[in-house]
Amino acid sequence: MISIFLGPPGSGKGTQAKHFQSARGWPQLSTGDMLRAAIASGAELGVKAKGFMEKGALVPDDLVIALIEKRSQDPDCAQGFILDGFPRTIAQGESLARMLQARGKRIGSVLYFKIDDAELVARLSGRRTCEKCGSVFHVKFSPPKRDGVCDKCQGKLIQRNDDQESVIRNRLSVYHQQTSPLVDFYRTQGLIREIDAALPPAQVQGKLEALLKS
Ligand code: AMP
Repeated sequence: MISIFLGPPGSGKGTQAKHFQSARGWPQLSTGDMLRAAIASGAELGVKAKGFMEKGALVPDDLVIALIEKRSQDPDCAQGFILDGFPRTIAQGESLARMLQARGKRIGSVLYFKIDDAELVARLSGRRTCEKCGSVFHVKFSPPKRDGVCDKCQGKLIQRNDDQESVIRNRLSVYHQQTSPLVDFYRTQGLIREIDAALPPAQVQGKLEALLKS
């Protein structure tokens, strides 16, 4: 089962993908998480990606395509995986199609997280991320038990640089220009399943369960 979680930043793709990873064992392949890990470890990829990410711009296609090509061949991906935050451009979508075709695999479904911009700005600007395990909280909608401390690993909760409002606006405009054309790209292939991502996370999860089963 290969699924793509497609939608704007802050639409809940990552939270839901993490849930399915722990509940069902489907690996979450998040290019955003991989790039942040590369920055944190000082890897060359991180050095190349950092400037783009801080501005809310997309990292060049060849870098993220190489990441997914490699990670998706790990043994834990043999039965399938969830792509979270990839592809983000038509060129990435085309590369993915070629890569899967060469391996005799195909995409099962593309879950499209639909939500409007005003809701996203409110969500993202209150988002706090654990710098240790990557768990995501929200100052208003899902606060941690202790202020600034991760419930799961006691790591420190931080606001990602790219969750600041000016950067968020840029990320949204990048999404509308470069990523949203993928909705039609996959719609014409009959793969799009739409989710109302403005619903509370538990309801979104229920709808995803049903869609992923069918
Ligand atoms: P995310 O955590 O998915 O919101 O990604 C954070 C940032 O990482 C994005 O704003 C981009 O700068 C970069 N990034 C993540 N995935 C991709 C991708 N598929 N293509 C290009 N840039 C990406």
